Amino acid sequence: MKGCPLNCPWCHNPESKSPGRQISYIAEYCINCGACNVVCPITSAANVTTDRSKSRSSAARDSDKVNPEIDRNHCTVCGNCVEACPTAARRLIGEEITPGQLLARVERDRPFHDQSGGGITFSGGEPLFQPRWLIECLMRCRQTQWHTVVDTCGFAPADLIAEVAPLTDLFLYDLKLVDDGAHRHFTGRSVKPILANLRTIDSLDIPTWIRIPLIPGVNDDRETLDTIGRFISSLSRVNRVHLLPYHQIGSHKHQRLGQTDQSDQPVAPPDVADKGPGEVGQRLSFESAVKLLNQFELDVIEGG
Ligand code: SF4
Ligand code: SF4
Repeated sequence: MKGCPLNCPWCHNPESKSPGRQISYIAEYCINCGACNVVCPITSAANVTTDRSKSRSSAARDSDKVNPEIDRNHCTVCGNCVEACPTAARRLIGEEITPGQLLARVERDRPFHDQSGGGITFSGGEPLFQPRWLIECLMRCRQTQWHTVVDTCGFAPADLIAEVAPLTDLFLYDLKLVDDGAHRHFTGRSVKPILANLRTIDSLDIPTWIRIPLIPGVNDDRETLDTIGRFISSLSRVNRVHLLPYHQIGSHKHQRLGQTDQSDQPVAPPDVADKGPGEVGQRLSFESAVKLLNQFELDVIEGG
């Protein structure tokens, strides 16, 4: 599901951040044919299409005038270029679908899921960012006995969590930091509602797996992980933690969406950056981080 209230620089799903539809451009697939320029209604985005009488083949002959890059300042995401592109170098990211349409679509795979023990995972982006749509889907899933998972960052109003939790079979709950200042610095949002919502879900006894992405320079030091481990161990029922190794597979996606990739430059929050290098918390290897969290008697699973 598209749309997310956080702005994490390490995000590996940048196509899910914006709630609206987007156009991506994959330069490696482009053959410079100019078909996108011919159909694009935005003249400033079309070096070739200013002359609309030109056919696609003549546009191809003028390949030195082809500009396959998207003018994102003027693009209306009409999708014309996606239809016209012969190599799928232009793609539409995002599709509108009703809960009924979605359920009808997944129903076709029911025999497979019945055999594998699978179900439906609502992920993103942030599924709670489209609350009415999500709740309608979860209610229909309950009626039709689909197992449901909500994969969330937890940043949502408390009353929404209270409404969604009883309709959810399992939460996958992202937790990056517990310190409010650091969380605001890196994600742009307070961690307080995230922690409060996690406590609510815990008190309702809804199965929850916490997912911690281990991000260099953000939360891979002893002190930070210690604080996270302490918080999780203070919960009554939730004790399963998935520690996720950091990767940068989202880098190429940023380029395709015309965005700047920030995933290689998470920086320490100001109160840490002001200190000398020797005073910054000791960074831990992935294995050491697992060991540290295990000390809190958590069920720590690597990856997943
Ligand atoms: S989606 Fe954007 S770039 Fe593509 S044809 Fe429409 S306005 Fe032009
Ligand atoms: S239509 Fe596709 S392949 Fe042709 S120039 Fe545009 S992006 Fe490249």
